[in-house]
Amino acid sequence: MEELKVFCPATVANVSCGFDVLGMALATVGDEMIVRKTATEGIKITEITGQELPLETEKNVAGVAGLALLGKSKASCGFEIAIHKKIKPGSGIGSSAASSAGAVWAINQMLGQPFTPLELVHFAMQGEKLASNVAHADNVAPALFGGFTLIRSYTPLDVVQLPVPQELYATVIHPQIEIKTSDSRKILKTGITLETGIKQWGNLGGLIAGLFKEDYELIGRSLEDHVVEPVRSLLIPMFDTIKKAAMTAGALGVGISGSGPSIFALSKGEAIANNVAEAMAGVYQNTDLDFEVHVSGICSTGVKPI
Ligand code: ADP
Repeated sequence: MEELKVFCPATVANVSCGFDVLGMALATVGDEMIVRKTATEGIKITEITGQELPLETEKNVAGVAGLALLGKSKASCGFEIAIHKKIKPGSGIGSSAASSAGAVWAINQMLGQPFTPLELVHFAMQGEKLASNVAHADNVAPALFGGFTLIRSYTPLDVVQLPVPQELYATVIHPQIEIKTSDSRKILKTGITLETGIKQWGNLGGLIAGLFKEDYELIGRSLEDHVVEPVRSLLIPMFDTIKKAAMTAGALGVGISGSGPSIFALSKGEAIANNVAEAMAGVYQNTDLDFEVHVSGICSTGVKPI
């Protein structure tokens, strides 16, 4: 195989109660990437469309993640990568993760799959480290595995794939303001009370049980975040109003996507997810804020050839 074109899904990390451990991939929101095998060793980013991002291999997450993989492989070839960005960096829906995951998945395919999906997560995490100084896996794991993933442990890395209820749809609204991931981490408290912990792990267990049982009511009841949302939501314009509008329109639950500013909702069925999108958009339409809204199923495959 000399050339491969792939879809690299956007991802929602945390999913309310799963700060730093849960994530899900979106089926119809994502970047495209074309990877070509070359005789020259190393990685070259040849083209980026859609966004202003560095072409230098060491400054682009796709380059860094790809080099991490090549460093562990015996390949005597190299790769050229063209990135067509549809996901805005800094939106909170895994823009960097899409590129890191896409690069390592495509290169692994073209080398005849020498690495396991878990090893690919490790390589892609090097890209995340470049983007946010933290090698977190809650975006790259769902981008590679698809569906919902749980990072059961970071040391050693243990990724658990969770089932996706058929009728589950996501709505994501992105108010176009900038929140630096480092700033949204800085404001978090470093400790929680036992009382808060009990609520949080009850909800995390409930959400995971809800996914297995396809129990939409349970999923909805469990989409609560007592740890991060109370603090981070203060950085997102009209978060409470958006959440209320989405719930009134029938959403199962609403939360912050990753470190924000995007807000996500989960709904049962595409029709309700569309109503939720309209309700959320209605809130920002009365302001000067620019925003984008997406409605999407959950991507069950992760990065895939197109
Ligand atoms: P998001 O909040 O959507 O997950 P991130 O904060 O993870 O976005 O990543 C954005 C940062 O990563 C920006 O500083 C951007 O310049 C950098 N970056 C480097 N290469 C890429 C790439 N290929 N795609 C997206 N962002 C990249």
